[in-house]
Amino acid sequence: MTADVLRVARVLHGTTAEGPGVRSAIWFQGCSIQCAGCINPHLFSSAGGSDMNVSDIVLAAVEGGVEGLTLIGGEPFDQPAAGAELARMAQEQGLGVIAFSGYQYETLLHRDQDTELFLGAIDLVVDGPYQAWNQETDRALVGSTNQRFIHISDRYSSYRPEISANRVDIRVLPDGSIDVAGFLDTSNLNDLMEATGTKRKARRTMTG
Ligand code: SF4
Repeated sequence: MTADVLRVARVLHGTTAEGPGVRSAIWFQGCSIQCAGCINPHLFSSAGGSDMNVSDIVLAAVEGGVEGLTLIGGEPFDQPAAGAELARMAQEQGLGVIAFSGYQYETLLHRDQDTELFLGAIDLVVDGPYQAWNQETDRALVGSTNQRFIHISDRYSSYRPEISANRVDIRVLPDGSIDVAGFLDTSNLNDLMEATGTKRKARRTMTG
């Protein structure tokens, strides 16, 4: 796959559930880390999802007037060349870039040139694998207490996860299916789907 093409599970433009401000969230397909208890196990295989041109993603984000991109997974750093190109193009257009990774930042720092370029085009990295035994209860956007907010630029330095709320983005589509992003207690989601009759059609790709 070239640096222009990304394997993507999902793109959601105009969401407030995936970081500060109105954002375009891009779920990368494939995760080599595969944390126990991950909420998105359907994103583990790199065989799923579909190919998208990075320029098309950035163009749609710019046209949508979002503040920035949130790169999430799956594992963004499993596709460092295309991820770097996506982040570079986004920053060139004045967008902010937040990337989640199950790898620790220190590991990424010494990996390869594509990863270095990728990190160089990111404003904020949220790092570390999900640890089901260390559940986070205070900070927004992260699932376990080991995960860190590492500011590479000062663009999001005023963002305070400890006083920010987790938001959930729920969209009922014209065909009756329900589309969910962000953190949501799955038992509540099941209740919602039962109530709306959309249980069979629901698609969940949460913050992970
Ligand atoms: S939490 Fe993130 S890094 Fe861990 S398995 Fe899920 S997608 Fe991969």
